[in-house]
This record gives sequence, C-alpha cells and structure tokens, in this order.
Amino acid sequence: MNKGRTGETTTDKAIMTCADFQERLPELFETKADLSADEHLKTCENCAALVRDLEYIAQQAKLLLPIHDPSPSVWENIRTAIRNDESSKNGPPPLPSVPPTGV
Ligand SMILES: [Zn+2]
Repeated sequence: MNKGRTGETTTDKAIMTCADFQERLPELFETKADLSADEHLKTCENCAALVRDLEYIAQQAKLLLPIHDPSPSVWENIRTAIRNDESSKNGPPPLPSVPPTGV
C-alpha cells in the first residue's frame, strides 16, 4: 500500500499583504473580530487607519439608523396589508370603460 503522503507544510505564519487583509476585512467586521489583535494591523499603519475609518463610519451609520424591533402592531399592519393584497388578486378589478374617442 502506498500512502501518498507528500511532505507539504502549510505555514500559518505567512505574512499577510494589505490586499489579503482588506479582503478579509468585511468578514472580520461581520464576525466582530478583535481587530486590535490583528497582526497585520500592528505592523501596517495604512490598514490601521483604514479600519479606524471604517469603524467610525459604522458607528455613524448606527446612529443614523437605530436598529430596533418593530412593535407587534407593525407586524399586524403588514399582515393585514398582505391579506388585502391577496384578496384583491382573486378578482381582477373592473376595467374602467373608456368610451372610444370620436375622430
Ligand atoms: Zn496593510
């Protein structure tokens, strides 16, 4: 039996480039990873500044768009609106009879 093991070693300590880091950035933001602990940020002032900017923007966006749960009455309104929409689909609304325009 031949166990085809190649002596491949994957180096985890590969140096990340700015492009690599910025590609991962959305993911890092979504997972709320601790960016201050990122190795690349410690060594790269460019990306550190970029992250600061993004964090600032994210904060401003949160202030502008406060996320809150809609109250149950909102959901009730939506449900009623959907029901009304569906019932109107059952019968097509009567077309307004347009008299032929005389020439
Ligand atoms: Zn960088």
